[in-house]
Amino acid sequence: MKTVGFEIKTSGHTQMTEITAEVRRIVGESGVKDGICTVFIPHTTAAVTINENADPDVVRDFIMELKKIVPWEDGYHHAEGNSAAHLKSSMIGFSQQIIIEDGRLVLGTWQGIYFCEFDGPRHRKVYVKIKEG
Ligand code: ZN
Repeated sequence: MKTVGFEIKTSGHTQMTEITAEVRRIVGESGVKDGICTVFIPHTTAAVTINENADPDVVRDFIMELKKIVPWEDGYHHAEGNSAAHLKSSMIGFSQQIIIEDGRLVLGTWQGIYFCEFDGPRHRKVYVKIKEG
């Protein structure tokens, strides 16, 4: 199946936006019953992860702790001034793979797919590739 992309406009400097519904829609439209769905983002200051989507405080705590682990200012050399965003991006990662079974994403009850913005607000892209089999 062809790679499908969609855009996302982030509104904050650091934020996590749930994209599960968009990915589900793409999987549904693909007609693929069994396979693997890859979600990839073509950015160096953002990431994609899977985590709890029931309690919004989980996302809040996630962002809060990441800021402690990688402070925004810490004597970095990168002239653009956003080294912290680059670091967080690689720590969390640029892609996720989710199993498709019976035409549906195999996600746990509390799991949601999140686009993680670390240097927004910006216009971002998300790519979804579905492989049958
Ligand atoms: Zn940079």
